[in-house]
Order: sequence, then C-alpha cells, then structure tokens
Amino acid sequence: MAPEFVILVMIMNAVQLVSRDIEKVIRVQTKVIDYMTDFFVKRGFKWLLPVMLSSITDPLWPDPAASKMRAPEIEAYGTKLKLMHSMILHKQFAIAMGLEKIFVLSPNIRLEERDRDDGRHAYEFSQLDFEIAYASMEDVMGLIEELMVGLFKEARKWGELEERGLPRIKAPFKRFTMSEIMEEFGDDEEASKAMDEPFWITDISREFYDREDPERPGHFRNYDLILPEGYGEVSSGGEREWQYEVIVRKLKESGLSLEAFRPYLEVAKAGKLKPSAGAGIGLERLVRYMVGAKHIAEVQPFPRIPGIPAVI
Ligand code: AMP
Ligand code: MG
Repeated sequence: MAPEFVILVMIMNAVQLVSRDIEKVIRVQTKVIDYMTDFFVKRGFKWLLPVMLSSITDPLWPDPAASKMRAPEIEAYGTKLKLMHSMILHKQFAIAMGLEKIFVLSPNIRLEERDRDDGRHAYEFSQLDFEIAYASMEDVMGLIEELMVGLFKEARKWGELEERGLPRIKAPFKRFTMSEIMEEFGDDEEASKAMDEPFWITDISREFYDREDPERPGHFRNYDLILPEGYGEVSSGGEREWQYEVIVRKLKESGLSLEAFRPYLEVAKAGKLKPSAGAGIGLERLVRYMVGAKHIAEVQPFPRIPGIPAVI
C-alpha cells in the first residue's frame, strides 16, 4: 500500500521535508487529541506524564502480529534502561499505587522489521493509553465505543474533513472472535477491507499480561478495535493478569526471562497488582484514518518508516 510516499521519503532532504504541507493534518490531530483528553478528564481519569526509559518494558511477545524485536537500551547512572515499547506494565504499577483510572499520551519506540509495509506501522508513534482498576472488558469496550461515536460525530462537522465522508457510527460495534475472523475473512486485514464501520475482534492469543479466561483456558479476555476500509487495527486492550503464579507461568510459557521482569514480579509477589482493564489507541493511526491518508508517515511531521532512514 502507498509505496509512493515511502519512495518520496527515501529521496527527500531536510529542506523538502520542512516544505511539506502538513498543516491541515495537524489541525485535525489537535482536535482529535483535544476531544480524547477532554473525554477522559471529564470522566475522572488522572492524566499521567509519559515514561520514556525504564528497566522493564512491554515484551511485545508472543504476538503473532508483531515481529520479534529488542528495545534499544541506554546506560545511565550504572543501570541499563530501555526505550519504551509501551507503558502497559507502568499502567499496572500506577493502578497498584492506588490511581484508579489513568491515561497517558505515551510515546513508543518499536524498531520493527520492514517485512511488509501495510501503511500503518511507524517505528516511533504515540498512543493514548488508559487503564481502569477492577474494570471488565465490557466496561472498556463500552467506553471506547462511546469515545469513538462522539469523536466521529464531532469530526463529521469539521471543515477539514468535509470531503472525507466519515461514517455515521453507533454503538455497540460488531464483535467477532479471532477464530470467527479467520474463518469468515482469512485475517483481520481482509476483514477491515470488507467492513465500512469500526468493529471488534476479541479472544486473541498474545502477550502474557492479557488475561486468560479462567473459566475457558486457551481463551483470552482481550480485544482489538479495527477500523474499516483496510485501515486496520487502531486499538488493543484487555483485562490484565495480576496474580503472581499465573504471571510466572505465562512468562515461562512465552519463553521470556523472569529476570527481565524482576521489579514487576516483586510487585506481583507482594500482592500489589490489582485486576484492571484498559487499552491503547494509536494516535497517528486514528488521525491517518480520519484524514484518509494512505500511509501513516503522511501524518507524521517527522516520518518514521521501519527500514527507511529518518530524514530528520
Ligand atoms: P499494541 O498494544 O501493541 O497493539 O499498541 C496499541 C496501539 O498502538 C495499536 O492498536 C496501534 O494503534 C498503535 N500502534 C502499535 N504499533 C504501532 C506502530 N508500529 N505504528 C503506529 N501505531 C502503532
Ligand atoms: Mg495491537
């Protein structure tokens, strides 16, 4: 998809990059972030500032949708700190601190392989990442539906998007389990192309921190929100594991080193992790869809395309 823009970035110099017209896109992005942050603040969420370096971060593994990668590390004051893949573990720490409902605009670095450019992967991006103590997957899915319905309704009035023709959407969105998607469409990509409204995929086998259904082992209480028209996944979330024994078992099953998660395991062993659920919503992916851009890098002032050297 959209190799033209990628080729353009490959031959662009810094002067050409700063001469690009990106003003309309950033106006839309401003409205989107304004709407979303206001939505969470009004509902009593506390706004955390992002963590960019830590001794632990999201392994992003095992997840059939991700390429295996290591977070780059820097040496600081005698410890090794990683650039954050995501703030999932820190959201659980924040819930452990007694902050019941939190959100953060979190910058993430993921040095993914350039195996296949689907137009929605950047190696530096931001998500609006939120978490709610003691919430269920239904609570979070309902909240995201309310957010999206309100945002789309608002956005349909914006002059910048007059010609875009965003769909009129209403909750609840259609739901499929991952196995239903595989059976009916082959994969989530094909499902996204076939749909004209956002929809959910649930029960996805992936990282250790997403909660396995204790009543139905091998099934997972998690969800992805998929945009239509082939734009694909815009949000991932789930209920979380919080019990030490379960976390240790799942880390071992994933082939991950327990040592790499030492502070997390200490907190879990002390019984401090609490049940919670949440999700992360990719901001560049959402803006890309809203403006109808072919490639995610078109909405980034400083494109970060896996496998392509950055211009600035
Ligand atoms: P994850 O929990 O890994 O699915 O990340 C949460 C959200 O962040 C995803 O649903 C995407 O919207 C966004 N995201 C993840 N990886 C990327 C990427 N490489 N480029 C842009 N956005 C991403
Ligand atoms: Mg995901």
